[in-house]
Amino acid sequence: MSFAENTMAGKTALVTGGATGIGAAIVRLLGKLGARVAITSRKEENLKAAVQEFAEKDGIDVIYRVGDVRDADGIKAVIADIATELGGLDILVCNAAGNFICPTEELSSNGWRTVIDIDLNGTFNCCQAALPFLKKATRGGRIVAISTTHADSGWPTAAHAGAAKAGIQNLMKSLSAEWGKYGVRANWVSPGPIEGTEGVDRLIIAQGKAAEVLKRIPLGTFGQGEDIANAVVFLSSDMGAYVSGTELVVDGAARWGT
Ligand code: NAP
Repeated sequence: MSFAENTMAGKTALVTGGATGIGAAIVRLLGKLGARVAITSRKEENLKAAVQEFAEKDGIDVIYRVGDVRDADGIKAVIADIATELGGLDILVCNAAGNFICPTEELSSNGWRTVIDIDLNGTFNCCQAALPFLKKATRGGRIVAISTTHADSGWPTAAHAGAAKAGIQNLMKSLSAEWGKYGVRANWVSPGPIEGTEGVDRLIIAQGKAAEVLKRIPLGTFGQGEDIANAVVFLSSDMGAYVSGTELVVDGAARWGT
């Protein structure tokens, strides 16, 4: 079951951190549904390998540029370059993020700053750099940030990431209010734990917490990358035209009890 195959035809999209995990699933679906897609992140080897896999396995042409979302001037140039090559930019998916487990009493200021810088400052940098292009999107520009349900619940041992994502959610609300006049919609998707991602492998499975986490998910399974991609497509397609400044939770009704 999927969207009609031309759902995203004629649209252009940039997915930050789109070479791996959830970002790659979003790229795959946007591309299969007809969008022209670009990805950016720091590691060229990941970007190159992903673009090759998208072409060979999925039959979609994706372009890439190396970029670090923390570098405001650098990412501005990358986004301008991508928009030129794609012939515009209708959709920005702010997916790039970093995270690690650390009790907050032991967290260094550098560790705190690094995650805030990638997740929150990086999202701001990308949104501001993309705005001139999103303003020109003929059917309304779209920003979709990838957050987490822990932004609301608090995130013991990952307070840095929880705080950064809470900041992103608040930023999306501000942008939806300020940039609605340009036709730009700004929303966020909050995934629960998604199977096969680096995050779940490292933060849940490697910590021996899979069974404990699954007990807290009434639907009884981890999510799939496609579940998040479906939510992003809805929000960035014409079907999501009147949705802005809000959250789409995709977590199997998880209850963290924190
Ligand atoms: P992932 O595979 O580690 O993806 C993160 C991506 O961000 C990587 O491709 C990485 O590429 C890129 N990145 C990191 N720092 C960057 C920087 N400074 N500049 C540009 N790109 C950067 O993780 P994921 O699990 O798929 O997570 C994707 C998103 O979903 C994140 O926002 C995460 O918080 C969110 N999320 C994930 C889960 C889950 O279950 N996995 C649950 C809730 C929310 P490079 O290393 O090449 O830079």
